[in-house]
Amino acid sequence: MSGRRKLIAGNWKMNGLHADGVALASGIAEKLKAAGTVAFDLLVCPPATLIWPVAAAVKGSGLAVGGQDCHAKTSGAHTGDISPAMLVDAGCSHVIVGHSERRQDHKEPDALIADKAAAAHAAGLVAIICVGETLEQREAGQAGAVVASQLAGSIPPGSTAVNTVIAYEPVWAIGTGRTATPTDVAEIHALIRQDLLKRLADGAAVRILYGGSVKPSNAGELMAVADVDGALVGGASLKVEDFWGIAASCR
Ligand code: PEP
Repeated sequence: MSGRRKLIAGNWKMNGLHADGVALASGIAEKLKAAGTVAFDLLVCPPATLIWPVAAAVKGSGLAVGGQDCHAKTSGAHTGDISPAMLVDAGCSHVIVGHSERRQDHKEPDALIADKAAAAHAAGLVAIICVGETLEQREAGQAGAVVASQLAGSIPPGSTAVNTVIAYEPVWAIGTGRTATPTDVAEIHALIRQDLLKRLADGAAVRILYGGSVKPSNAGELMAVADVDGALVGGASLKVEDFWGIAASCR
């Protein structure tokens, strides 16, 4: 037993309108309430437009709500962006930063991700900092080096096991149906743990999530891997039964 409670986080990405988003979150919250005591924490990260209604719908259920990104500044002339304080105001306790789709689509470098995580911490949010190599980097034998360099650049000073979660998401496994093997996952999670132990006083307690085509059928074996402390789930977080099935695989 690691002593680390598992976290199952759903990243809805750019999916969901008001009615179906609220129904999805409410369905998950109902499962959680009906289950009583569970061995995991559960989080959904809806698109920004749905944070308010989802947070209102699941209030008091134990289901946490998070943002998918935030700006590094607290306010100002940043059209289209959302500050960490706004996420808190809307009902969030967590925020994902440095997802590979933002690293790719918005050319976000490690230093910006570190600034976003620091801003999230300052606002009282838990930052879920994502790292992971591309297929090209893996095939060139660079997976470990890429992840180590992303950790070095993206984890800000002041990070602790309370305000930070790391998500290892190999880019080639996201939304592709291709899952990393338990051996691949164990290797990189062990490397991340070693890095955290050196970097942070409470590095042993930081949760490390795996993400990349996690579904109910493979969650059991992935969640049993050493140093896998939960999952960041994309596609399978959009159906109550699938998301709950993944969570239920946590022991
Ligand atoms: C993700 O977007 O973080 C993710 C892991 O997606 P999927 O589960 O669909 O691969």
